[in-house]
Amino acid sequence: MQKRALVVGLGIAGMSATIGLRRAGWTPVIVERAPERRTGGYFVGLFPEGRQAAIDLGIAEHLHTRNPKRADGGGNAWSVNRRGRRRPALGFLDQPGEPAAVLRGDIEAALWQSTTDVEVRFGTTPVEITEGADGARVLLEDAGTAKRYREDFDLVVGADGMRSSVRRIVFGPHEDHLTTWNAMICAFQLKEQVPTYEASDSIIVARAKRAVWVFGLADHAPTALLTYRTKDFREQFSGSRDERLRAVYSGMDDDPVVRHVLDSLDEAPDHVFDSVHQVRMPRWSRGRVVLVGDAAWCMNLYSGMGATSSLRGGAALGVALREHPDDLAAALDAWETGLRPYITKHQRTARLKQQMFVPSSRRAAVLRSVLIGLARRIRGRRTATETGGQQVSALSGASR
Ligand SMILES: Cc1cc2nc3c(=O)[nH]c(=O)nc-3n(C[C@H](O)[C@H](O)[C@H](O)COP(=O)(O)OP(=O)(O)OC[C@H]3O[C@@H](n4cnc5c(N)ncnc54)[C@H](O)[C@@H]3O)c2cc1C
Repeated sequence: MQKRALVVGLGIAGMSATIGLRRAGWTPVIVERAPERRTGGYFVGLFPEGRQAAIDLGIAEHLHTRNPKRADGGGNAWSVNRRGRRRPALGFLDQPGEPAAVLRGDIEAALWQSTTDVEVRFGTTPVEITEGADGARVLLEDAGTAKRYREDFDLVVGADGMRSSVRRIVFGPHEDHLTTWNAMICAFQLKEQVPTYEASDSIIVARAKRAVWVFGLADHAPTALLTYRTKDFREQFSGSRDERLRAVYSGMDDDPVVRHVLDSLDEAPDHVFDSVHQVRMPRWSRGRVVLVGDAAWCMNLYSGMGATSSLRGGAALGVALREHPDDLAAALDAWETGLRPYITKHQRTARLKQQMFVPSSRRAAVLRSVLIGLARRIRGRRTATETGGQQVSALSGASR
């Protein structure tokens, strides 16, 4: 008989794990809290490990990428200084690894195409998980009917995001696992590009403790990210979100980029407004319950590796289960041993990357801009050398 797994969460980690489980010969069932599959989302840069996982999962051909083409005149990254002057900058897509520009929904849509014949129960959440001798017994609740029922599974995969219910039920309260960063984000799609910029340009306005990013895309309106540091993240959730953001960005809102982004928030189809955390856990599985993606190791947006690692984690879980078909404990051990060094490395570098997104002080802002200027010059020189090299080899090819 095929083994059954309950996958909690229809995000990138949940669908990646589902495809992995199926390839390992399991029968997954997905429960998702939302009443329907979400679409859209914010800008995500997908790094080489994520693109490789997409290939491993067999979804790469369905993955729509949106990197702007610089040859078309757009796709430039600009930094705006205090006097409102724009200067060429290094954008998110200029990082090593040449990330693929996508919306979170693009990854989910590609995964969904390989998940359509899997049973998905929307509006359903786990309420209780107990482990017996030969299975995990889960009490599920259907939000539509308020009906609760019990069902047995050979494995429960918690892929239900940073504030995972599976983690809370099995591993303990959120406070035990969420680290405090005292930083906030608000991410959403813009209806239109900031006036006077090319449609696919990216724009960065980074000041001490507050920053606004616009991510340009090839065939879609840009997405925006407001991110700021605060003394007490809990306080940020009280009162009106709009008033809060206007107060945080006061003094910066005479800049046309900041004003355009703040004014666009009301028209956004949806948005994420949340505090920033990392999830730190000494172990990602217990018995027949395993966590994957943000539920297990949320690295946060500053790392730029959450989607990449969710794809990789889900794909690797499938491989481990395939390689240890009769020993679940050995499969989960092998999976965690293989993945943990990579996750730890990116969790550590996120603090440094945060300085690039939103500097912690005026001094850090100055240092950031000097470093980016330097990196830009080195990159420019390298590109010139490469282009020169290509021209030389093209010439020598022609003379042969
Ligand atoms: C603004 C922003 C920018 C980012 N940029 C990047 C980037 O450039 N590169 C990158 O790699 N990553 C990026 N990330 C991170 C990346 O988006 C996440 O790490 C990734 O989407 C996590 O996927 P997940 O499936 O683990 O969790 P989620 O996307 O949170 O999905 C969890 C799913 O579980 C469901 N769920 C929750 N609770 C329950 C429950 N109790 N029962 C049933 N279902 C439940 C939710 O509805 C959701 O569908 C960014 C994140 C943000 C916020």
